[in-house]
Amino acid sequence: ATTTTATGATPTATVTEAVTETFAELYGAGPDGVWAAPGRVNLIGEYTDFNDGFVMPLALPHTAVAAVARRDDGVLRLHSADVDGGVVQLRVDELAPLSDGGWAAYPAGVVWALREAGHRVPGADLHLTSSVPTGAGLSSSAALEVVTALALDDLYALGLSRPELARIAQRAENDFVGVPCGIMDQTASACAVEGHVLHLDCRSLSIRQVPFDLAAHGLSLLVVDTRVKHALGDGAYAARRAGCEEGARVLGVSHLRDVPYADLDEALGRLEDETVRRYVRHIVSDDHRVVRIARLLTEGDVRAVGPLLTEGHASLREDLRVSCDELDLVVESAVAAGALGARMTGGGFGGSAIVLVESSAADEVTRSVEAAFAARGFAPPRVFPAVPSRGAHRVA
Ligand code: ADP
Ligand code: MG
Repeated sequence: ATTTTATGATPTATVTEAVTETFAELYGAGPDGVWAAPGRVNLIGEYTDFNDGFVMPLALPHTAVAAVARRDDGVLRLHSADVDGGVVQLRVDELAPLSDGGWAAYPAGVVWALREAGHRVPGADLHLTSSVPTGAGLSSSAALEVVTALALDDLYALGLSRPELARIAQRAENDFVGVPCGIMDQTASACAVEGHVLHLDCRSLSIRQVPFDLAAHGLSLLVVDTRVKHALGDGAYAARRAGCEEGARVLGVSHLRDVPYADLDEALGRLEDETVRRYVRHIVSDDHRVVRIARLLTEGDVRAVGPLLTEGHASLREDLRVSCDELDLVVESAVAAGALGARMTGGGFGGSAIVLVESSAADEVTRSVEAAFAARGFAPPRVFPAVPSRGAHRVA
């Protein structure tokens, strides 16, 4: 793992030097450049992506940093400072979906997706390291994909836009790695602007940068990584997806995004299945919360966002039922200690929660959450500030 600066997603000179040096040791010559891409956290809009709805992620100061060099002999060499097992060597013309279960599938999948899209990528040497915690719901995988995509775009002058790079990265994860994720993570990593959240429409893929300059308002957004991952996650995701599709079918719309919030009660009255009704209520109300939060942030009323986060958590806990004891405890203890609002973020069943708090109260709220975890016999959570940081960029 590496360190990043506290205020933005630019890796420190030390990290850049370290990846450059290790690259040269591994491959015998220096890289052609060094690139960085951040992890992300979602402020609001959960499970809405596959319902064609809205999400609102921000980029973290934590980044994947990759040193990369061109090569034109069809060879792809991949190495991570954070994984044992040495250099993975592949041939670009032999890359095949689902062929590799290891970490290298993420960067290799990007090379595959670029070539599938008709771009000329005749090989590469890559060495990376990342400060994005893995498996905490903070999208360490998207950071890996996007940093690879940006580096190759630069090195081979492919001329792809940021949203196009995000779609290539998503294709790598969906089809090569085999994870059915939406477009949010890669878009956040590729397109984020410092001091902003992205208002992303998962149907049109249109992006609006909404001001979210927490420091200017004396506020902090804490990420609380519970460090737990409960087993039922995968099946539960598929069940939520199927339930939402069923709800859309009964309501006669292509996606739940098409149910206006003003018509929610009437729509709920037409749903007989209690589970489907709960899912629909979550999706339609969370889409509405994204829109309300976008409006509040645009008006500069950042503190008013807090209660909507807590409301969103209740919806995820009671209607979608994807929370867990640890996540509920973060929200409960943070709000009790004076936080403006809090909610689980990401898929749930573990992973991370976010807490909006006056900066002056951040330490006290952190201590209260830690104390609540200790009192329940839970392992200590990892807490850090989510400074809204810049998206992928070249660093050297
Ligand atoms: P998340 O994206 O929520 O962190 P995922 O399961 O989607 O979790 O992605 C985590 C995987 O990404 C890891 O299991 C590993 O294969 C890969 N990965 C993330 N960071 C690194 C890294 N620094 N080096 C090598 N592989 C990494
Ligand atoms: Mg991931």
